Amino acid sequence: MKKRINLVIVGTGPVGMVAALMFKQHFEKVILLERQSKERFLQTHGFTFPIVFTPASIKILKDIGVWDGIKSQRSEFFGVVVHKRIFGKEFEFSSSQKGVYSHWRNHAITKLYERVMEEEIPIYFNARVEDIDFNNKICREANLGGLPFDLLLGADGINSQTRRLMSKAHPDFDEKEFGLTFLDNWYAYRLPSRDVLREKFAGGDRFWASNVFVDNLADHPSEKFRIVTTGMRQPMEEISILIKHSAEVNLQRLKVLNESYFGRFVESKQELDAAWESGYAGRFEQVRAPTFYLNNVLLLGDAAHGFESTGDLINLGIISVGSFYEIYTRQSDLNAALKEYDDTIGEDLRFYAKFSYRRSKEKVAFEVGSIEFAARLGLAKRHPTLFGIYEDDFEFSSYMKAYKRDILKAKLLVFSIPVVLLLLLFLR
Ligand SMILES: Cc1cc2nc3c(=O)[nH]c(=O)nc-3n(C[C@H](O)[C@H](O)[C@H](O)COP(=O)(O)OP(=O)(O)OC[C@H]3O[C@@H](n4cnc5c(N)ncnc54)[C@H](O)[C@@H]3O)c2cc1C
Repeated sequence: MKKRINLVIVGTGPVGMVAALMFKQHFEKVILLERQSKERFLQTHGFTFPIVFTPASIKILKDIGVWDGIKSQRSEFFGVVVHKRIFGKEFEFSSSQKGVYSHWRNHAITKLYERVMEEEIPIYFNARVEDIDFNNKICREANLGGLPFDLLLGADGINSQTRRLMSKAHPDFDEKEFGLTFLDNWYAYRLPSRDVLREKFAGGDRFWASNVFVDNLADHPSEKFRIVTTGMRQPMEEISILIKHSAEVNLQRLKVLNESYFGRFVESKQELDAAWESGYAGRFEQVRAPTFYLNNVLLLGDAAHGFESTGDLINLGIISVGSFYEIYTRQSDLNAALKEYDDTIGEDLRFYAKFSYRRSKEKVAFEVGSIEFAARLGLAKRHPTLFGIYEDDFEFSSYMKAYKRDILKAKLLVFSIPVVLLLLLFLR
């Protein structure tokens, strides 16, 4: 395949780096533009939360030569325990899966970064992307000036500047159709894994993740929030805690609630305070983008389809780079490749993001329950909120098609039950 000249990638997160490593051989020059300073970039990625890589993204990570490094710090992740308090009493529900591991996101980032350095792909830190000329294919950066590109990949995360500029320039879509919807706030911190904490929230020797729905704290009965904990064994035993809460609960209040909940599982208040202080806060937001491309610019990863993650988001980002790569290397015409990607994978990702929005905001327990019920009867597969994405043969488009079909089957099944009952009553 003939090499194109310039590839500009905005954003050096996992998706930007995976894309740089995959596409490098097809371009004479590749540059990654990163908004943060080098120190901050490396430091930010020094403390994060665990993620689970699916077989489909592991295949890509193997292809770009980072998988062996990444897997050196993995911990077994057998499944999920949901602790639900109902009328003050705690119940446990669990679902398990074999052969799945969790990884520190920072470790994966470090390994990708090392590989990018080995390949001598330049990263320009402190980048300020001021403008993109979509017609003349020039990206204007505050210090570097105009950077011509044959292809520009916007992998600059949920607050994407590339998406913002695309929304202003797009002739077919109104600026308001691109944007963000606020979902919830979150706070993340880590505690040493031991004793009751280890048994209850990290599955003891089995290292389970755990999902705690707290809605009736003994001291604060009217508070509602959700805690996700993951036990990590490598590089040392720790429990990562992510608390999802509404905007009404400020950080001061959240600290009090956290103490009320976790205070009894730690050795001292000082230990909990110190762990809490080194944590950090963020927001869950849902991206809206009616299209992912304009001329030679494509949005990828969270910039295109960010939403509140239950473990699938980073994988969809990596898988989408792989899908675009497959189309890119098959289609000689770049614009046809971008259109094909947007019409196929893009459509699926938008569908998935909508589903995910409903999952976090509108509670899709009935939908998920119906599919699970149909799956138990052998009429449907198991699907995204569950463990479908972790299956070995996961392939995005066919999976989404099957999912849409199965929703229909599950609805028909559930709605046919009262009809059959009525018919039986009528025939008696
Ligand atoms: C609390 C939390 C928990 C999560 N848990 C999971 C999980 O368990 N499993 C999972 O799969 N996913 C999880 N995710 C999501 C996952 O982290 C993201 O999907 C993933 O990081 C997205 O990768 P990305 O490269 O698209 O974007 P990002 O990781 O956001 O990277 C974007 C990069 O672009 C840079 N940037 C931003 N703006 C500009 C600009 N204008 N110019 C240049 N550079 C710019 C940023 O500094 C950053 O380095 C979680 C996210 C959060 C917040």
